[in-house]
Amino acid sequence: MKDRTLLMIPGPIEFEPAVLQALGAPTMSHLDPVFLDTFGSALEGMRKVWGAPSGQPFLLVGSGTFAMDCAGANLVEPGDRALVLSTGVFGDRFEDLLTRYGAAVDVIRAPIGETVDFEEVERALEAREYKLMTATHVDTSTGVRVDPQRFGKMGRNHDMFTILDGVCSVAGEELQQEEWGIDIVLTASQKAIGVPPGLALLVVSQRALGGWGKRRIPVANYYADWNQWLPIMASYEKRIPSYFGTPAVNLVCALNVSLAQILEEGMDRRVARHRTIGRAFRAAIAALGLSQVSTSEDHAANTMTAPRYPNGVRGKDLLPRIRQAGVTLAGGLHPKIRSEYFRIGHMGAVTAGDLLTTVGAIETGLRACGHQFEPGVGLAAAQASLNA
Ligand code: PMP
Repeated sequence: MKDRTLLMIPGPIEFEPAVLQALGAPTMSHLDPVFLDTFGSALEGMRKVWGAPSGQPFLLVGSGTFAMDCAGANLVEPGDRALVLSTGVFGDRFEDLLTRYGAAVDVIRAPIGETVDFEEVERALEAREYKLMTATHVDTSTGVRVDPQRFGKMGRNHDMFTILDGVCSVAGEELQQEEWGIDIVLTASQKAIGVPPGLALLVVSQRALGGWGKRRIPVANYYADWNQWLPIMASYEKRIPSYFGTPAVNLVCALNVSLAQILEEGMDRRVARHRTIGRAFRAAIAALGLSQVSTSEDHAANTMTAPRYPNGVRGKDLLPRIRQAGVTLAGGLHPKIRSEYFRIGHMGAVTAGDLLTTVGAIETGLRACGHQFEPGVGLAAAQASLNA
């Protein structure tokens, strides 16, 4: 593995060896009693990680976009009004998606790097009635975090459905879906939940299932329709064989291993670890003289960081040099500022060692690009933050 680099992009991430081992095991029948138990146990684990003891988990084949699609397809009927709270590219994706299913969509778009202004949202909700509202817990194009508790509460106060895109947050940022009254929290396997790409994961409140049950017309997406999947999820929980579409057997086995590891670490400790490492990354970036897309420490994500390139340094020069120094990072994603910043993912199995390796490689790359700073100043700031 001499050529291996440390993968520090905002998904896919570095995976735990036990997770990869489960992925490489001989594939079982999707109706094997051992697999029924694995699938059932993964569904039970999801409820715990989401903080949704009475929620309905859906464990499906697909990427995060399919999880978004599944939420939209099931909750939207033509003519429904939806409010999208957008803090970046993935918020904007909801506008497109919900429109496709016939929703009339209004968007409250935060300026790049800012989080949602809930007073503005409150005014919009008072001015007009909406059936549903979406938000992105951490938008991976900006590294901005939205307050999910306030989002859920506002949705309940206005008697609407709420969909939280947790693709870049679930199992990394704090989440209490049920207590906070959020109807759907969705994610994908390749991020903080720690499994290679391929699974779309949603937990749906009983309230949203009740609303969905009163639909006037069938769900316009055959594969995403909860009618297909509810009996399958129920059967797996009862360890009874059933079939609609073949599950991603090995990914489900890997997910079950990862969920067990997550729950063994404990959600509080896991969230605290992400917070500590996120803070240390931000301290290191600031010490190196780089600003960030997120305009405030208060709403900067703990699962990723989006630093801006310093004056005179271009991504096409810096990122390959960081890679040569052993760490793979991601370029910008937001179309309006794509060439102005890069992205570091730090979630899931991330350790303090990964943090220091990454900051060291960033220092090496910046130096090679001619950026002036005192060598080691980023590493020192990261360590000081870790030890604080
Ligand atoms: N939402 C967010 C916040 C994301 O970060 C991503 C992926 N980067 C998606 C949705 C879409 O997920 P996928 O790429 O797995 O379709």
